Amino acid sequence: MVYFSKHMEAVPPSATLKTAQLVFQLERQGIKVIRLDAGQPDFDTPEVIKNAAIKAIKEGFTFYTSSRGIIDLREAIAKRFDKEDVEIDPEKNIIVTPGAKFAVLSSLFATIEPGDQVIIPTPNWVSYFSMIQMAGGIQVPITSPNTKMINEDKILENLNYKTKMILIDYPCNPTGNILTEEEQKFLHDIVLDEDLFLLSDETYRELYYTEKKPKTMLCCEDLHDNLIIIDGFSKTYSMTGWRLGYVIGSKKLIDLVDKFQQNSTTHPTSFVQKAGIVALNQAYEEVEKMRNIFKQRRDMMMEILDKIPEIECTIPNGAFYAFPHIKNPKMDSSAFAYNLLKTKKVSVISGNPFGPGGEHHVRLSFATSSEQIKEGLKRLTEFISENQQNVS
Ligand code: PMP
Ligand code: GLU
Repeated sequence: MVYFSKHMEAVPPSATLKTAQLVFQLERQGIKVIRLDAGQPDFDTPEVIKNAAIKAIKEGFTFYTSSRGIIDLREAIAKRFDKEDVEIDPEKNIIVTPGAKFAVLSSLFATIEPGDQVIIPTPNWVSYFSMIQMAGGIQVPITSPNTKMINEDKILENLNYKTKMILIDYPCNPTGNILTEEEQKFLHDIVLDEDLFLLSDETYRELYYTEKKPKTMLCCEDLHDNLIIIDGFSKTYSMTGWRLGYVIGSKKLIDLVDKFQQNSTTHPTSFVQKAGIVALNQAYEEVEKMRNIFKQRRDMMMEILDKIPEIECTIPNGAFYAFPHIKNPKMDSSAFAYNLLKTKKVSVISGNPFGPGGEHHVRLSFATSSEQIKEGLKRLTEFISENQQNVS
């Protein structure tokens, strides 16, 4: 009899990827699904980026690189923050990883010891909970009020000597909420006063629909020993399959993440790193175009959702998801998403796995065509009216 790791057996699968697998199975059977689940842009990766990778392969850039990633890419990442007056040393303070997900995981392994508590505002991205668990930490989910990113009072109430980190992402997956400057100030003060790590996942920072781009937490210079900034290329440049992300942090943090990477993935794919430089330096216009299209689709989705009486939804200010509350459904959100897929062939992500505050919600992605959004929401409306509880 062989025994598998109980620790790993207890980790839940990714709800987003599990849904995608279900969709792939249906598609293999020839069933067409309207995909409102996918957490990835539906645009092709910009041509200049693809060409850079092809050129790098043709020139033979197909071998191991530094485990931190090539220095030219780290320099291009550091330069990105010049406009925001943040100085980063690309030698000491940046490591490039295979995707932002691995950047989060390796940073958690570098900071969390068994039993350490991580405060996480919810609803929030499904994988944070599993990653904290894999690293041996304890998640302390704190439900945020509707339009806000964090609940300051509840965070203060839950602090104790085991609290090691606060983990945030903004614009938030799944709500699209963005940290306000007051909330940033609150986090700044608490992290300094209590000597905590602040992991700020800024993966969606370029996808904002407000007047100004959200301010990076890196702007708080006196926080730099406590900060862990995560970002990646997947969402901004439509490069999900390329697997490229990075961590910015103190020298000590980057040294530890480097050790984790050296002994696991080694580094992200060599020629993908070359393409990353071109993405940062030459794809500005494409990013703007995609952002504008996402904004139009968001507006269209919100207009349709607004007309459905059984739905309440706050306007997402960033990312590409809406996270509506379904009033009085006959079933929980997992059953809702499953039955919607089964009966109407529309895939969404159930609100449950996004943590407390997610029940009776679904995540709808507007990273798909207007036609798909319209048809998907039409079928969703039918499904809701067929599955409402009678409330008098
Ligand atoms: N952070 C957030 C908030 C996400 O939604 C995702 C999902 N793509 C990631 C990180 C990971 O992105 P990737 O690994 O594709 O860079
Ligand atoms: N992050 C995206 C999502 O939330 C992609 C899938 C994943 O990595 O979770 O759908």
